[in-house]
Amino acid sequence: MKDVDLLIIGSGPAGCSTALHLARLDPSLARRTVVLEKAEHPRHKLCGGGLVPDVDTILTNLGLDIREVAQVDAAWARLYFHGRGLRLQLRDIAFHVVRRCEFDAWLAARVRDCGVLLQTNTPVTSLRRVDGGYLVETSRDTYRARVVVGADGTKGATRRAIPADYGAIARVVEVIIPPPRSPAPEPLPPDDEALFEFRNVTAGVQGYFWSFPMLVEGQPMRNLGVYDSRNVGTAPLAGALTGFLADELARHGVRLADCKVLGHPIHQFSARSVLSAPHLLLAGDSAGADPLLGEGISLALGYGELAARAALDGFQRGDLEFANYTRDVHRSAMGRALRLRCHASSVIYRLRHPSLQRLVWWYLRPIVRRFIHGVLFNWARPAALQPAPLRSALAADVVA
Ligand SMILES: Cc1cc2nc3c(=O)[nH]c(=O)nc-3n(C[C@H](O)[C@H](O)[C@H](O)COP(=O)(O)OP(=O)(O)OC[C@H]3O[C@@H](n4cnc5c(N)ncnc54)[C@H](O)[C@@H]3O)c2cc1C
Repeated sequence: MKDVDLLIIGSGPAGCSTALHLARLDPSLARRTVVLEKAEHPRHKLCGGGLVPDVDTILTNLGLDIREVAQVDAAWARLYFHGRGLRLQLRDIAFHVVRRCEFDAWLAARVRDCGVLLQTNTPVTSLRRVDGGYLVETSRDTYRARVVVGADGTKGATRRAIPADYGAIARVVEVIIPPPRSPAPEPLPPDDEALFEFRNVTAGVQGYFWSFPMLVEGQPMRNLGVYDSRNVGTAPLAGALTGFLADELARHGVRLADCKVLGHPIHQFSARSVLSAPHLLLAGDSAGADPLLGEGISLALGYGELAARAALDGFQRGDLEFANYTRDVHRSAMGRALRLRCHASSVIYRLRHPSLQRLVWWYLRPIVRRFIHGVLFNWARPAALQPAPLRSALAADVVA
């Protein structure tokens, strides 16, 4: 039996961000923290890999340089309905596209650089509330933790430890292919542009088709997929999501049969969900991703900071009930952006008539642009001072 103060389950962006923020806020608590990860980095994670500007802001605040990870810059993002609509430039929401296996491995390496113990190949097999914390069993050891941060993603077990979960489950299907060469009815955008096409909202898809440029081992590739939030009403989608993907691919000259299709759910944020229990904090997808676009990486990093601050505050005050964590998440700049995205998704995905979708994407462009730029994104604030590089929690111990 191993006793730890803080146990982080999962080393995706949420778990790594929690550890990195702890290392910055309180190296001594970081030293009493263990991160448990069931896989070995670099590990596969199904994801479009699109990083919005808030990711840059949070990582820069941590003294990290995202440019160390191979990426493609999408200088433009098209938000279209039937091939026409809004074209946003880099300063709005256009973004970098990374491979998640590489991005997450880089983050995990930065966690280890700080001296935080990250143990891979260690799946958590059970989580049980005991006096003063949680008993966490893994394939190797049993831990008694005073605080657990559940950063184990959509399919993880920690969110089920809190029954008040109202977040819907979005479905996503994705393929990665070389840029199509054959002529197509609608060519994909050029290599420096990302596409979000909302045509299928009129057919009941509560989301969009995307095309992101990306690099796989130095080769230009395309990441294409369909996101369906299913957070409006209870009716199931008429038809398989892969059917919608097949139609979109055909428009761009690609046969579904020539692609390897992968799918994964995304647990969404709900303004009604409870995100903590005594001795337990949720972060990242286990707390809930964005229901509008399915964007979750910047949020996972943002949750990590909030969870680290809550844990630190709890230890300092000797109160590990975390009664205010849900409220604090909601009141944070990230929480406000998340709640707005919930409202926006329930409005936009309800507008199934083509004339209403045309109104949004073709005619209300200045309003949509301002909403996206000023309200939905850019919630993470740059640090007032240039951040110092992250110190190793072990080195800090020696200095202290
Ligand atoms: C197809 C698809 C496309 C997406 N595209 C984008 C995009 O372009 N941009 C964007 O911002 N977001 C995107 N998302 C969402 C994004 O992937 C998630 O929001 C993000 O990964 C959440 O990070 P996380 O750290 O909370 O969870 P995860 O990244 O899922 O990490 C959880 C970690 O916990 C580990 N774990 C799980 N169970 C256990 C256990 N029992 N014991 C130990 N470890 C465990 C896992 O191995 C994993 O490393 C997409 C999602 C999907 C499915």
